[in-house]
Amino acid sequence: MNIWGMTQEELQTVLTPFRIPSFRAKQILHAMYQEHRTDFNEMTNLPKGLRAQLSETLAIERPSVLALRKSADGKTAKFLFEFSDGATVESVLMRQPYGNSICVSTQDGCNMGCAFCASTLHGLSRNLTRGEILAEAYAIDEFLQEQGEKIDTCVLIGTGEPLMNYENVVGFLRLMHEKETFGMSYRSFTLSTSGIVPGILRLAEEGLPISLSISLHAPSQELREKIMPIARKYALSDVIAAAKFYAEKTGRRVTYEYILIDGVNDRLEEARELVRLVSGQLANVNLIPLNPVVESGLKRPSQESIQAFSAYLSKHHIPVTVRKEMGTDINAACGQLRNAYREAR
Ligand code: SAH
Repeated sequence: MNIWGMTQEELQTVLTPFRIPSFRAKQILHAMYQEHRTDFNEMTNLPKGLRAQLSETLAIERPSVLALRKSADGKTAKFLFEFSDGATVESVLMRQPYGNSICVSTQDGCNMGCAFCASTLHGLSRNLTRGEILAEAYAIDEFLQEQGEKIDTCVLIGTGEPLMNYENVVGFLRLMHEKETFGMSYRSFTLSTSGIVPGILRLAEEGLPISLSISLHAPSQELREKIMPIARKYALSDVIAAAKFYAEKTGRRVTYEYILIDGVNDRLEEARELVRLVSGQLANVNLIPLNPVVESGLKRPSQESIQAFSAYLSKHHIPVTVRKEMGTDINAACGQLRNAYREAR
């Protein structure tokens, strides 16, 4: 039985039939998660006999890193993982001015079908388990530890729709938070969703003070439906209502992500609609100049249009930022490395 990704409670349940006292679970978790030991024989905090017994009955299997690419400027690193069934996912490390930020994937592929996104081109293969998502973070943590650094923030903005894999994602967040596992504060996490309304409402009640980002990308129902098929299932007005509810419940500012696509949603007309939509909310807007994906045929607007759009929002008192691009030389944008690998295979 693979114990990687288990909580203390789960491990205790596993150990009970072997008559191993429950305090050992805590020690095993400490060795596994804090000391990064994946071999029971190296768990020097356990008696020798127990180490041998555990080696015979349990396993610790963490997915392997298939590829690691570092950007020329040393600020970005991209990790490609392969799991035992051949599922491949990518994660990214970004050295930001405010610390080391990691971006993890939550699904192998995605079935949201957004017109601009590379991750959805081949559909969804499967959900990642909590342990698999955790393994992404651990591999990056080990990479950083070698350089005397650590993870400061974590965003769930990689491949997949996290709220379509709710249990595993929340399980992952809890593991990252637990003192025995990773000990990261919930405030260091951001979850990004394409607007799965029931998931947002549930997350608001979960009691985890994480930040929420909503992939808005259009200020009207009509336009949003054109680029995001999920908009037909969850109406824009409901998404906004859910975001407000989240902000009220958690007291945390919601971020609306807005990809700027040339001639599609980047005109002042849309900026005006966007201002009307988000004014008065505890929210800010993050403009993302499109990272062109060849298959989509969509283009990035000119620098002038991006600036004009951003300036219009600022002028109307909407807190706005423009996403800074990192790691373009290593295909760091959503799903690009994974797709390149799949095509090569
Ligand atoms: N499914 C979730 C999380 C994954 S998408 C969501 O929709 O939020 C993560 C972010 O990357 C989203 O804001 C998404 O819209 C953005 N993104 C996807 N493709 C992109 C592209 N080609 N250029 C720029 N941003 C992109």
